[in-house]
Formats: sequence, C-alpha cells, structure tokens
Amino acid sequence: MKKRPGFGTLTVHAGEEDRSGYHPSSMPLYQSSTFFFGDTQSGVDILEGRKEGYIYTRIGNPTVRAFEDKIKALEGTEAAVAFASGMAAIAAVLLELLRPGDEVISCRQVYGGTTAFYENILTRLNCPVHYFHPQEDPDEKLTAVVSKRTKLIFFETPTNPELSIVDMARIAALAKGHKIMSVIDNTFATPYLQRPLASGIDCVVHSATKYIGGHGDAIGGVVAGSRRFVTRLRQSMLLSHGACLSPFNAWLFLRGLRTLHVRMDRHCGTAAALAGFLEGHTRVRSVLYPGLKTHPGHATAKKQMSDFGGMVAFRLADRKACRRFIDRLKLCRTGVSLGDTETIMLHPANLFYPKLSDAECLRKGVDPLLIRISTGLEDAEDILADIEQALKTL
Ligand code: PLP
Repeated sequence: MKKRPGFGTLTVHAGEEDRSGYHPSSMPLYQSSTFFFGDTQSGVDILEGRKEGYIYTRIGNPTVRAFEDKIKALEGTEAAVAFASGMAAIAAVLLELLRPGDEVISCRQVYGGTTAFYENILTRLNCPVHYFHPQEDPDEKLTAVVSKRTKLIFFETPTNPELSIVDMARIAALAKGHKIMSVIDNTFATPYLQRPLASGIDCVVHSATKYIGGHGDAIGGVVAGSRRFVTRLRQSMLLSHGACLSPFNAWLFLRGLRTLHVRMDRHCGTAAALAGFLEGHTRVRSVLYPGLKTHPGHATAKKQMSDFGGMVAFRLADRKACRRFIDRLKLCRTGVSLGDTETIMLHPANLFYPKLSDAECLRKGVDPLLIRISTGLEDAEDILADIEQALKTL
C-alpha cells in the first residue's frame, strides 16, 4: 500500500536537536527537575519567552521538548505537548475545552478509560455526551444532536476494540460546519498510517504507551494541534494540573519513534496474515479487521489509511470458548495493553465483566464474544501456529 514518503527520515531525525554542542547521536536524557538560570533577568526572560531555556521540568524539559517536536513533525501540526499518560492527555483536552453545561459528541466505541472519564468526571461537570455509531449512523443523526452547547467531537478510528472505522473527512466537515472542535485519539493508527490533520481534524491525542513507545516499558501521552490550543494546554493543564511526562519516558518514546515505521510495517503484515487465517477457520465466528473486504469500514479505511493497522479482533462461539482459547495460548500473552513487541490478546468481557451475562455486557456496549489481538513482532508463522493449537483445543 501507499506509505507516507519521507516518514522514515522524519522518525529518525525530527526533533532531536541537542544544543549542548557535543553532537550526540541520541538525544540526551536531561534527568533534571530544575534548571538554573544564572541571574534573575535570565530567569524572567526564559519565563516570558524572550530567551530559550528551561526552568522546571513540569513546564518544560529538553528531552520532553524533543519528543514533542518529533510528534509535531510526524503529525504535521504546529505544536505538541506531552503528558504523563494517554488518559492525562485526553483529560487535559476535555477539561480545557469544556465548561459546566457544555456538550460532547463521541463515538460509542472509544477506549474504556475515556468512557469512564465521561461517566465519572464529565457527569460531575454536567457535560452530557451524545454518542454516535462510527459506521452506521448517517450525517442527519449526528447533526440532530449538535446544540449551541456542543464544544467538541471526540472519536477514535480504528476504534478500540471493535476496529470500526470513522470517516475523518466527514467528521471534520461536520465539526467545521458547526464551529466545533474535532479531536481524534490516533493511538491505534499512529501518524504513520493516518494523518488526521490532512483530513481536516483539529487536534490529535495519543497514548504514547502503545505503538509510539512500542516496547511496553513506559506510560505517556501527547496532544498535537494548533500552536494556540497547545499553548493553552501548556499554560493551564500542564502548569496547574501537573501531569507532566517524565524525561526518562520521553527519552524512551524518542527511541521508540525512531523505528515506528519499521515496526508498523511488520505489525500490519502480521495482522493481515492473522485476519486472513482466522477468517477461514471453522471455529471462528467472525473476524473484524479493516483490511478485510468484508469489513463495513474497508472502503473508508482504504481512503484514509496507508495500511490497516496491527490490531485484529475476532469472535468465538461463546464465552467459555473465549476463556479456554485465551488460557491455552503458549506464545501469545494475555494482557490489557497493545502496540508492544509481544503479541497480546484480550477478552474484555471475561476480564472486566466476569459476573455479567452476555446480555448485560451488550447493554454496556461490550461485545461478550470478542477477542482483541495486538500483533507483536514475533514471526507470523509462530503466532499463527500458537493460535491454531489453541483453537484446536476448543
Ligand atoms: N487511548 C487508547 C485508544 C487506549 O487504548 C488507551 C489505553 O489503553 C488510552 C487512550 C489511555 O492511555 P494510557 O494508558 O497511556 O493512559
């Protein structure tokens, strides 16, 4: 498939400018909480933006800044600001944009932590969330819920965990038509596979914990968007809310990003092979992968993504089979995260809602039979063989 030209050069080089004068091959880790500024005037000049420099890592750090600059280059935005986790980044955007009584439009299929934020925090602020279905709802259904108090549309594509596809250009047009801010969680696709800004989306958030880091060793998040909005986030959320990214994690993310394109190519290739294999397997009820022609969002995914991603979902006959399958795996691991070097499988219903019936799960928007795979970097044949032997035991 058509990939982004020049992306590999950006991932290796962008943002990593160290001003120490030593010309290191890797951006140094400035593991320092405070930076001394010499005299009072220099401190004032740095604080007021007349002089380049750093004061305190909660509001800025050279290693964190390098990570932000790399993300800015990869997403093609004016600016980026890092946070302590993906959730901290999402919370910062929502809290910055919303005032009590404001409203949000969101696709129903978003990361569970985001839904929990809607339910636990936005409810307290009296900010209702109106949900839409990424692939089924027509434009009229979306426009019907827009009111004078609607401040933003928040969505993911591909969604977690069903891998539904939202048409980014359609959301951008709707948002612009109603002067609403559009925000995408681009964690699953990464800037290598899709560039939301090019489709007209205003703001991008990431859980850097996933593909950006890529090695399952650091938690972090980042927001990329206009200089104006990112400055607002820096001055309000970072300064006062305080969920800053640690320099060490920024350093790990910089290292992870250098190989993002190489890893994503491998993840996508393996995911396509797994989806094809699972689709033809008699014990598998259905497979959800945007690269399959049978996927309802295939045409949109082809239009807006340069490949279909490293995540695959599939359904087995019942929950007992799902449990047995997961527990019989030998090479693939079971866990909640994704985008790592290891293949990770998750059956959300059995893990998070073991006491709920299938019908109760469905009422909560959780597919009781769905297993999510985050394909790792192992050899595809080994992953396939492990899945096959686990399926045989059903
Ligand atoms: N967005 C998506 C799509 C996720 O999958 C996750 C975590 O799994 C998050 C956001 C939250 O990120 P973090 O765990 O870094 O807070």
